[in-house]
Amino acid sequence: MNDLQTYFFTDEATVKALDGVSFDINRGEVLGVVGESGCGKSVTALSILRILGERGRIVGGSIVFHRNEDSVDLATLNPRSKEMMSIRGKEISMIFQEPMTSFSPVHTIGNQIMEAMIIHQQLDKKEARELAVEMLRSVNIPRPETCVDRYPHQLSGGMRQRAMIAMALSCNPKLLIADEPTTALDVTIQAQILALMKELQKESEMSIMMITHNLGVVAETSKNVVIMYLGRIVESGTVQQVFHNPLHPYTRALLRSIPKLGKKQGKRLASIEGTVPDASRIPPGCSFHPRCESFIRGVCDVKKPEIVDAGDSHRVSCHLYGGTYDGE
Ligand code: SF4
Repeated sequence: MNDLQTYFFTDEATVKALDGVSFDINRGEVLGVVGESGCGKSVTALSILRILGERGRIVGGSIVFHRNEDSVDLATLNPRSKEMMSIRGKEISMIFQEPMTSFSPVHTIGNQIMEAMIIHQQLDKKEARELAVEMLRSVNIPRPETCVDRYPHQLSGGMRQRAMIAMALSCNPKLLIADEPTTALDVTIQAQILALMKELQKESEMSIMMITHNLGVVAETSKNVVIMYLGRIVESGTVQQVFHNPLHPYTRALLRSIPKLGKKQGKRLASIEGTVPDASRIPPGCSFHPRCESFIRGVCDVKKPEIVDAGDSHRVSCHLYGGTYDGE
């Protein structure tokens, strides 16, 4: 993805949901995409799948998707074109935070998994059913032969999320976009689902874009990470670089807000002052400046910081690091 700009056009304003987002996801790699709600993580996913709705439009940049035989810039495709429809759900699929909103309540789990296989893999009904049972088995759903005929509401939250993963993986996607896949689950189930995703990812060599506000999930699953704030990437690098040597004040604040084992009881957990502003009213200069404890008056509120190289693949967008990183 290079310099992607996605805007939403409403009667009141033009909302710059993504304002020049660039990153790569290599084959077989898990990339963590982190930020608070409203930072543009989900819009990035919806832009890749070209399901932005009527008011959303990609106005600049590219999303180059490399396949075995060729490459295609998804940003240039018509969202309703045959080519985009064959990529969506087959080569790139998505799992959502709450599967109840993505599964239809009136069709069985099996029929919904089978539908994608029949459309994308030209299987007949019997073959698709057998494969659906296999997929449910591969995500460790007990008695998959029975579960295949269940409706979504008849499964627990954890089982529904497993079924959602089975559906997303049923067509062997090259890229899986996981949007807060474990947020709605309790910690034990969350750990099981993450372990399952890691295992399936290793077996199939697919790439995963792991969207989350939870840095623990990124540490657990990802090799590289991008930190987003108000439609821009403010810091990126390997998980090692960003977690052990966070440069951007926003990343530092996010890391400080993680609860730590052994912390003295009664001590308040650090939080980031203020809230993410409305994307239709992005502050001038560095958009994080109203919340930043390192804010430099006359600089940060005037000039947008460029992205600078901080060594190896570590990059940051902040005036503290000037034109060249000075090792601060
Ligand atoms: Fe803070 Fe300024 Fe850096 Fe923005 S550019 S994060 S306001 S120090």
